[in-house]
Amino acid sequence: MTGSTLKGKRILVTGGSRGIGAAIVRLLADEGAQVAFTYSSREESAAEVAKGLSGEGHFYLKMDVASEESVKEGVDQVLAKWPEVHGVVNNAGITKDNLFIRMKADDFDAVMDTNLKGTFLVTKALSRSLMKNKGSVVNITSVIGQTGNPGQANYAASKAGTVAMSKSIALELASREVRVNCVAPGFIATEMTSALNEEQKKKIMEKVPLGFIGEGRDVAQAVRFLLSDESRYITGHTISVNGGLFME
Ligand code: NDP
Repeated sequence: MTGSTLKGKRILVTGGSRGIGAAIVRLLADEGAQVAFTYSSREESAAEVAKGLSGEGHFYLKMDVASEESVKEGVDQVLAKWPEVHGVVNNAGITKDNLFIRMKADDFDAVMDTNLKGTFLVTKALSRSLMKNKGSVVNITSVIGQTGNPGQANYAASKAGTVAMSKSIALELASREVRVNCVAPGFIATEMTSALNEEQKKKIMEKVPLGFIGEGRDVAQAVRFLLSDESRYITGHTISVNGGLFME
């Protein structure tokens, strides 16, 4: 099913080569946007996603969001192709789980660098274009940033930090009509969650009132809304897409 809520918009999605990011890329293309999306290591997956997209003018590029140099190079490539960027979805993210007591500082840093600093770097690199175009920023956080989770001190901190950072940037850029919001997924079927064992999955499912595991497209629908003009009066907000797992 295709629509046109994003017709004429050019949007960058980080980590679009698989999982939730790939679902976001597909839906934005279905809705008439031109999409640039990044991968970090799996070029083949990115090529596969690009093949199936509706519409024209999409492209993908390599970018390590944790590296300032790589972000600058990547954003320069995007701006060389597109004079205008109307939105960015900071979706790239990693986990490096371990109990706090055993967690290595390097694993703490790696998660913060990708999930939190990566969001800062990409948004900053695009800020001029976003300000020119009354753009929309959507940051993918997590229910874990709202609740905490044993074994995910680094991940929870990175996602809660992203919410606080998003509110601050939303306040700073509101006068330019740039909106900054978050989408906080719950348990979504992707490679990230396939690492969980059956016992862990069962425990999570017992806590999900709607009783099923979400799909990337469920997250993508909220992202689409926040990028579209339908949400023009919403900024500094987090939409939870979690089947009722956590209610604020
Ligand atoms: P996946 O592990 O399936 O995909 C991660 C994506 O991020 C890939 O496209 C990967 O690229 C990219 N990526 C990883 N590291 C970097 C980096 N340093 N620079 C640029 N891109 C990078 O993750 P999900 O789809 O499950 O998660 C997407 C987002 O949603 C994340 O922010 C995650 O924290 C969040 N989330 C996920 C939930 C879930 O249940 N799955 C729940 C809550 C939040 P490549 O393919 O090249 O490796």
